[in-house]
Amino acid sequence: MPTKRDYYEVLGIPRNATDEEIKRAFRRLALKYHPDRNHEDGAEEKFKEINEAYEVLSDSDKRTAYDRFGHGGAEGFFGRGFEGFDFGGFGDIFDAFFGGVTTATRQAPRRGADLHYNINIAFEEAAFGCQKEIKILRTENCSLCQGIGCKPGSQPTRCPNCNGSGQVRRVQQSIFGRFTNITTCPQCHGQGRIITEPCPQCRGTGREKHQRTISVKIPAGVDDDSQIRHRGEGHAGIRGGSSGDLYITLAVEQHEFFQRDGNDILYELPINFAQAALGTEIEVPTLDGKTKLKIPAGSQTGEVFRLKNKGFPHLNRRGRGAQLVTLCVVTPESLTKKQRKLFQELADTFEPTES
Ligand SMILES: [Zn+2]
Ligand SMILES: [Zn+2]
Repeated sequence: MPTKRDYYEVLGIPRNATDEEIKRAFRRLALKYHPDRNHEDGAEEKFKEINEAYEVLSDSDKRTAYDRFGHGGAEGFFGRGFEGFDFGGFGDIFDAFFGGVTTATRQAPRRGADLHYNINIAFEEAAFGCQKEIKILRTENCSLCQGIGCKPGSQPTRCPNCNGSGQVRRVQQSIFGRFTNITTCPQCHGQGRIITEPCPQCRGTGREKHQRTISVKIPAGVDDDSQIRHRGEGHAGIRGGSSGDLYITLAVEQHEFFQRDGNDILYELPINFAQAALGTEIEVPTLDGKTKLKIPAGSQTGEVFRLKNKGFPHLNRRGRGAQLVTLCVVTPESLTKKQRKLFQELADTFEPTES
């Protein structure tokens, strides 16, 4: 960490500067180094430094902590208790008028974090749905102490420092009036209770990691990037908070010869010159197996045949898309002697094409 400059030095004021002097120094420097006005190199850093110094020195509690402990003291102070202004009760309203009130809210239950996993599924699995199992690693409440953190049979005891409130209150007199300073109790970290005999399984944390196998039902018709949510299957909450959710994102693998277009399936069917000219009946692969497709005589490359209800099922309604079969007439690349002769005979029967 780079060494921080002394806050008084940053603002260019003596250590016994009054609040008014601090404010004046800040205004002057902030105007000078404001990034909108000052485009010199390092002006922005300087502006941040000035702001930080002012934030600490303009607050009597923070300033006192800084004077006593330096930068570390001021930071520790922020970390523990400064969660904004709040009124703790009727009496504090007076304090707020004549002085200031800062409170640290007692630590509330917190929802567990969500978990994110990916699953690869085959093209056909996306079409018809499937059941998959995934292994996940998550934090759960300790099974021995049920997340409380105490050795079974023992109880958490009320914190003697804050008498169970999780907060410590100090009233200070200053020239501006009475300051009620409420901070999180350092002994119990705001919990209001202390574990004297920690649970041997989780060492008092109340939490442990588990690998779980989760069965995931994948509905028919899902697409690439579809997300499935399992409510409450994420990490366990803290202090009785609800568990997070498990999100599963699907990646659908490409198919060898089918392509998906919404809920339709695109398929290219190669046929030879004779089939296109004479017409034929061909077996075409579909998701449901082979099906016969009638190709009329005189069909051309690019013609599309629609096989109804052979596509993907619609996710939220009945029915399915179609399979669209596009013809592709393939010209032979090499001919046998006999074929060449026949083609030649055939060619003589055609009118020459005009150019
Ligand atoms: Zn435990
Ligand atoms: Zn306490």
